[in-house]
Amino acid sequence: MPRDLTRDFHDLLERGRDRQLRLAVTGLSRAGKTAFLTSLVDQLRHAGLEARLDLLPAAREGRLLGARRVEQQDLGVPRFPFDRALAALDDSPPRWPEPTRGISELRLSIRYRPRRPGWVGGDTRRLTLDLFDYPGEWLLDLPLLEHDFASWCRAQRFDGERAMLFADWQREVADLEPAQEVEESRLAEIAERYAEGLRAAREAGFSDLQPGRFLLPGELAGAPVLQFFPLPGLDAADPADLERLPPESLYATLARRFRHYQQYIVKPFYREHFRRFDRQIVLVDVLGALNAGPERFEDLSRALSRLMQSFDYGRRSLLSRLFAPRIDRLAIAATKADHVTPEQHARLTGLLEALLAEPLKDLRFADVPVRALSLASIRATEPREVDHRGKRQPALRGTTLEGEEALLFPGEVPERLPDADFWGRQGFAFTAFRPLPRDGGALPHIRLDAALDWLIGDKLT
Ligand code: GDP
Repeated sequence: MPRDLTRDFHDLLERGRDRQLRLAVTGLSRAGKTAFLTSLVDQLRHAGLEARLDLLPAAREGRLLGARRVEQQDLGVPRFPFDRALAALDDSPPRWPEPTRGISELRLSIRYRPRRPGWVGGDTRRLTLDLFDYPGEWLLDLPLLEHDFASWCRAQRFDGERAMLFADWQREVADLEPAQEVEESRLAEIAERYAEGLRAAREAGFSDLQPGRFLLPGELAGAPVLQFFPLPGLDAADPADLERLPPESLYATLARRFRHYQQYIVKPFYREHFRRFDRQIVLVDVLGALNAGPERFEDLSRALSRLMQSFDYGRRSLLSRLFAPRIDRLAIAATKADHVTPEQHARLTGLLEALLAEPLKDLRFADVPVRALSLASIRATEPREVDHRGKRQPALRGTTLEGEEALLFPGEVPERLPDADFWGRQGFAFTAFRPLPRDGGALPHIRLDAALDWLIGDKLT
């Protein structure tokens, strides 16, 4: 049997016995994917020893024996840089790891004792856990598959604060005509202005940005497939006239690249990776968006509902029609919960649920088990109590990135979606802190074990 086939067959067998699970981690840039995956691997490696995983029954019951990294299956996918991330966290002073930029993978072999030992295989078992990390921005491209170039152009918006961020690009496209011929190098320049606009919008805290690969091009940087942009002013144009334009025209060239992007970039990701994930966690930096103000918060909400379409398994959804995915369990987590005092954590989860109310309704309707939670993959603060005008008040202690000790109350998380009143008071502001040192044990976290329980707990019984 050829090697690949043997491997596939072996994998199939393992899956059949529930001994293999493919778990994917995603979220928009800076949502906390790298921190989450680093901590997850670290906790499992310390399971049975120093890791505090009380919310994971297998660990609490002393049945989780530990985990080892083993060679991953797909040698074409970069390995998740766990050692580099851990080295940054163990540095003195500790540093946050560099974020990953594309898809990466890591395979763990987990040893555990089943609750009831079986007849065969002794009293320990193995679960092979394939972990994947990929940018949530890539999921923003799913809706792009529903469009042709003209309808995509019409769907893009450049109003409000975005108008300013895309001003350079808009100046360049203002006098372009769909029928004119445009030199290759000129197209590349304009596309770069467009990508700069997207990056500036990203920097400014916007999330609803397309195409996703323009923000994280990876090995595609500079390739013509990433050199297109929406043509404004097509509203009045007759679609049939546009389709008749010659192949060298600006419109036809951009439309060709758009189609290529759909066929060779977006679809293969769904076909070759996404479709094969068993479980998924989507990380959301709700607190970061709260900190950044109303326009960004709105934008995050729009981006999330777009991103969540990738989990809409309704039989008629675009996703099901095209790729028949099979994720059977989903978690949605508000990250960096250690930015707020512990009594705010329930509100944070509530806010996440409010933010995702529509997609969550669709998921429950489609019978996809989903759970929302708040967590901190790697804690940077410690909860304290302070006296404030004779009353005990919760507070947080941490070390700022500049190395100063701080004791503060960052504010209250709104229970519901923030309204004008909340933004008017702007009762929320937090500082970035250094990660807490490891102190010889596993990385300090909040409820990472709850996430683990939901995502893999049932496979460890
Ligand atoms: P990615 O782009 O999704 O991989 O995001 P990262 O994991 O690199 O996280 C981005 C930044 O968020 C980090 O550099 C940290 O500053 C911060 N961060 C991530 N996780 C946590 C956490 O659990 N607690 C705190 N306080 N900050 C975090």
